[in-house]
Amino acid sequence: MSASADLVEVFSSVQGEGTHVGERTIFVRFGGCDLRCRWCDSPHTWRPSLECRLETPGGGSASVPNPVDLGTVLGAVRDLGASQHRFVSLTGGEPLLQPEAACEFARALRALGPRILLETHGAAPDAFRAVVDAVDVVSMDWKLASEVRRASDPAKGPVRGFEAEHRLFLEIARTAPETVLKLVVTLASTDEEIDAALAAVKEIHPAAVVVFQPVAPGGGAARSPTARRLLDLASRGASLGLDVRVIPQLHKLLGVR
Ligand code: SF4
Repeated sequence: MSASADLVEVFSSVQGEGTHVGERTIFVRFGGCDLRCRWCDSPHTWRPSLECRLETPGGGSASVPNPVDLGTVLGAVRDLGASQHRFVSLTGGEPLLQPEAACEFARALRALGPRILLETHGAAPDAFRAVVDAVDVVSMDWKLASEVRRASDPAKGPVRGFEAEHRLFLEIARTAPETVLKLVVTLASTDEEIDAALAAVKEIHPAAVVVFQPVAPGGGAARSPTARRLLDLASRGASLGLDVRVIPQLHKLLGVR
């Protein structure tokens, strides 16, 4: 039990996104992210924090200093009733910025019973290669450069897209038992960038499920795309023979974390 990680929080809820929406899940949220999505609803995770919040049974919480060791994470997840949850989600921030810890945490947490779901921006293929064997479901984003920058990019002007990283990532994901590829659709999303994503899925990993997630209003997004727009995008994916879903964020509807 040597691994430790900068974490933001460990808590129990339901999965709010993707094909496993509504399933009981314990979230282990890593601190730090190297992207800057305009619509990000968790900017407090962009930089590692001094302390990690551990939810305690009954809805209370305790704070522990970062980095948090594996034994502490295992204890917190056990206390939250690991066996009553379908998944432990490694999320962020970006868990693949701490790949050794993500890998060791995944293996140890899986032994408690829940399946391991990795939620990632999908732009760190080298780190993913070291972790993929330890996860059951890969939930990767395909970031659209119309609304997403790297933290190192200039604040204004066009930026280099993420297609090269995502294509490599998808290739590695073929070895995972289950892959979900999420596209957050905003008013700025273009047909061209979405078509490029769909074509890559078709070419590289056609068994992946594609989820169109309408951006939720708030933060950096004034409005969600219309239902007509989402259905049109779903038809574009279906016309390629892909398994396509349109799924909004459940946790925001429920008002939970
Ligand atoms: S990758 Fe995730 S945590 Fe990072 S900026 Fe985008 S939405 Fe936020």
